Amino acid sequence: MKKRFFLVSLTITFLGIIIYALISTNVYYNNAISQTKDTLVVYMNQYDESLKFDNTGAKSLSDKLSGARVTFLQIYDIDKVIVVGDSQKEDITQNHSDRVEVIDAINLGYGYSVRNSDSIGKKLIYYALKTTDEHIVRISIPTSSSFKLFYESIPTILIFLFIDLIVCAFISLFAVDLILKPVERMTKDSALFKKVTATYPELEPIADIINRRNKEIKEKIENIKENKKIENMILNNMEHGMAILSKNFRVILSNSVAKSILDIRDNDTIYLDDELKEAMQKGENSIIYRNIDTRDYAFRISVASDAYVILMTDVTKIKNAERSKNDFIANVTHEMNTPLTSIKGFAELIKLQMLDEKTLNHACDVIIKQSNRLSNLIKNIINYSSYEDENIEIFNINISSIIKNTAESLEGGLKNLNLTVNYDIDDDIYIHSREERIVEITTNLVSNAIKYNKQNGSIFVSLKEYDENIIFEVKDTGLGIKEEEIDKIFDRFYTIDKSHNEATSGFGLGLAVVKKICENQKWKIEVESSYGEGSSFRVIMKK
Ligand code: ADP
Repeated sequence: MKKRFFLVSLTITFLGIIIYALISTNVYYNNAISQTKDTLVVYMNQYDESLKFDNTGAKSLSDKLSGARVTFLQIYDIDKVIVVGDSQKEDITQNHSDRVEVIDAINLGYGYSVRNSDSIGKKLIYYALKTTDEHIVRISIPTSSSFKLFYESIPTILIFLFIDLIVCAFISLFAVDLILKPVERMTKDSALFKKVTATYPELEPIADIINRRNKEIKEKIENIKENKKIENMILNNMEHGMAILSKNFRVILSNSVAKSILDIRDNDTIYLDDELKEAMQKGENSIIYRNIDTRDYAFRISVASDAYVILMTDVTKIKNAERSKNDFIANVTHEMNTPLTSIKGFAELIKLQMLDEKTLNHACDVIIKQSNRLSNLIKNIINYSSYEDENIEIFNINISSIIKNTAESLEGGLKNLNLTVNYDIDDDIYIHSREERIVEITTNLVSNAIKYNKQNGSIFVSLKEYDENIIFEVKDTGLGIKEEEIDKIFDRFYTIDKSHNEATSGFGLGLAVVKKICENQKWKIEVESSYGEGSSFRVIMKK
C-alpha cells in the first residue's frame, strides 16, 4: 500500500511538474516574443529618413540599435521586394516578397514574423515597416526557441523532481499511516468481531458490509458451537462407545466411552488388534466381541466410503446371562441325571424279575426316593425361576409378623437335633416388598440354620429397625462354613457336602434365591461364620 501510494503520488507530481514546465515555458516564450516585438517597435523609432538606403545606412542604424540586424528593402511590385541594404550581409539582392513580415508590411503597413533566418542561420524575430510606397525597413533580433527554453529549464525540473521524490517518500511514510489508520482500525475491529465504524464517509459502505458479514459469521459460529455442543453432549452421554476411524486407522472422532474402552489417549492413535483391523479391511459390516478389563463388548463395525464407524456396546450382562443360562442348564442336567440313572437302573432290574423280595423292596424304595428328589428339584427350579422377574409390583408390608410366622412354622424341624430357637423381633416393622419374598428368605435362612446345626444347638432370629436400615439376622451354633467356601455358597447348585446334602435333600438353590431377591430389592446380604462353631446370615434392608 505504502509503495503504491508512493508511486502514485510520485507519478502525479512528476506529471504535474512536466505539464507545469511545458505551460510555463510556453507562457514565458510568448512573453519574450511580445517583449521583443515592443523592443523592435522602439528600435524602429530610431530610424530616420536621412539614412542612406543601402548597406552603409543599414549598418549605421544597426550600430544605434545595439547590433540588431537591419535590412532595407525596395518594393518594385508585390512579387518583387529586393534587399538593397543589410547590416550583416553585404552581397544580398534577394527577393523577399514571400516573407510573411514583408507581405504584411506591404498590405498593412507593418508585419512581424518569427523564424530561422536562412541567411544567418539563427532564430530571429522580424519587424518590417513600410516607410514609403517603395521602401520597407526591417529590423530583426535573435530570440530563443521554446524548445531551447524548455531545454534550459531541465536542471530546474530535475531539482524539483528530486524535492518531489523526498516529499513523496515522506507522504508515503507518514501520510499513508495517517490516512490508513482508520482502515487499519477497521481491519482490527473486524478481526475481533467488534462493531466497525468508518472515519471517512467513503468507508461507510465497507463498514456496513463488514458489520453485516461479521454478524452473519458470528451467528454461524454460534450455530456451529451450539451444534458441536449438542453433538458432544449426545456423543459423551451415550451409553455406547462410538469412534470414527480413517482408512489408515487414525481416530477422527471418538466419545468418552470409546476413549476409555479403546484407551485412546492423545485423541489420534489407537491400538487395534489384527482381527479388528482385518474385519474393517474386509469392507463389510461386521460384529466382533472383545473382553476388555473383565467386561464384554460388541464392536459393531460399519464401513463407510472413507471411514470406519465402530459402535461399542457393553454386552457383559447379556454374555453373563448367556453363561449363567448355560451353567444353569448344565447344573440342572447334572442334578437330574443322578436320580434318573438310579431310577432307570432299578427299574431295569425289576423288569428282569431277578430280584429277591428284600432287594425288590429296596429297589422300589430307591425309585420312590429318587422320584421325590427329582420332583423336589423341579419344584426348586420353578421356585428359583419365579424370582427372575424384577419389575413386579411391591407393597408396604408388615415383615415382623411374616418373619415370625414363617420361622415358627419351621419349628417342627427342631426336634431331630433337639434345637432351641430364640426370637428378638421388633413389632410392626414395615417395608416395601412382597410377602413371598420375605417368606422365601426366612424359610431358607431358618431351615439352613436347622439343617446345618448340631445336637442341642441354638438358633437366634432377630429383626431390628435402625435409622436407615432394617436388619434381619439368623444366627446358629451349627457346623459353620470354611472361609474359602463363604463366597461360593450363594452360587446356584453349590452345596458344600454332597453326602450331607443327600440326606437333607438340598440342591444348593436356597441361598441363590435369597441372593437373587436381595439383588432385586437392592438389599445387602452378609455372612459371618466360624467353622465348627456356627454362622450368622444378615440381610440389610434399605428403608
Ligand atoms: P441347600 O439346599 O444345599 O441347603 P443352600 O443354597 O441353602 O442349599 O446352601 C448352600 C450350602 O451352604 C449348603 O449346602 C451348606 O453347605 C451351606 N450352608 C448354608 N447355610 C448354612 C448354615 N447355616 N450353616 C452351615 N452351612 C450352611
